[in-house]
Amino acid sequence: MKSLGSIRRSFAPWSDPGAKPYISFENVTKIFGDFTAVDDLSLDIFEKEFFALLGGSGSGKSTLLRMLAGFDEPTRGRILLDGQDLRGIPPYRRPLNMMFQSYALFPHMTVEANVGFGLRQEGVPKAEIEARVAEMLKLVKLEQFAKRKPHQLSGGQRQRVALARSVAKRPKVLLLDEPLGALDKKLREETQFELMDLQQSLGLTFIVVTHDQEEAMTMADRIAILDKGKLMQVATPAEVYEAPASRFVASFIGNVNMFEGKVAARDAGSARITGASGAEILVGNAGDAAAGNTVSFAVRPEKIRVSSKRPEGAVNALEGEVYDLAYLGDMTVYHVRLDDGQVVKASALNSSRASDDPLTWHDRAWISFAPDAGVVLTR
Ligand code: ADP
Ligand code: MG
Repeated sequence: MKSLGSIRRSFAPWSDPGAKPYISFENVTKIFGDFTAVDDLSLDIFEKEFFALLGGSGSGKSTLLRMLAGFDEPTRGRILLDGQDLRGIPPYRRPLNMMFQSYALFPHMTVEANVGFGLRQEGVPKAEIEARVAEMLKLVKLEQFAKRKPHQLSGGQRQRVALARSVAKRPKVLLLDEPLGALDKKLREETQFELMDLQQSLGLTFIVVTHDQEEAMTMADRIAILDKGKLMQVATPAEVYEAPASRFVASFIGNVNMFEGKVAARDAGSARITGASGAEILVGNAGDAAAGNTVSFAVRPEKIRVSSKRPEGAVNALEGEVYDLAYLGDMTVYHVRLDDGQVVKASALNSSRASDDPLTWHDRAWISFAPDAGVVLTR
């Protein structure tokens, strides 16, 4: 991997009030017949951002991308690109290119002919096409495959040809609809890093649609989470994981435990939450939850400790029984059934070979977590 970290760490135009968005969806709604596929959605994307649209099947991701590309128009609302309203502008006049889920290469054409196809269509001079194709093939590390036909390539290589083809015309924005859907897990992971490198070296804005949360977390600067055509949250991967805005987002991204209860008392920041069984949890930051509100305290499994005895000084500790456990090599996942019946997931890194507190099926166990281990959710 290249040392992208230091570059990307300072890239955060969305938190700069003076920064101008490059693409804006303004109250965009798309209705098919009597079905609302995209529902009053507003969203800003910045130049050179690697942006992911994440959601389950049918959540409106492709519809959103198709409207940006110009294959569909919004029923209501507008889409701006660099300040210009895109309504009525045909797809080929928009400074963007779309790479589809099923990236069909021309089977009878060589790799270089495939990559240069769009340029020939546009009547770009031959010498320039050759230069551009060579540059693109170098970028996706396929120089030595220029004369091959698609069937002489692996799935991953074909995918890179499709990528080279879609950036050959130098669009400002590349739209990718489930670009890695056809690849197996290992190749997907490799290709994710290649896509990030490509986006960096070309300095383009990438908008990628995916239903795979890990993929979105790996690649994107920010993620928009969609559900039934509605925007649920837009934030960096770390924010959606550590500070989900709702129960939906908390459950959609990664594993989470939800402790349900009522806010019994609160002061400046902290609050006491009482569950149905009477168990109390102290939370460090209750946000805008008021006394009496029904809330969920969402805690990730890796922030919960499992032990055979109540840890000394633990603020939040609940007792139960080891109900299930899975040894995954690098870590062990415990399912602890609390005495009130709730099953809590806790994961522990196996950083040494032998645990000094071995726990097994049906053992009595305590789970414990800090007041700031999770977030209080009111919706
Ligand atoms: P996603 O890409 O998130 O899986 P889509 O944007 O493709 O979802 O579709 C969102 C919803 O809109 C789906 O329920 C789909 O059936 C519906 N839809 C998409 N395109 C059309 C269309 N042309 N006509 C009618 N319904 C459509
Ligand atoms: Mg789709």
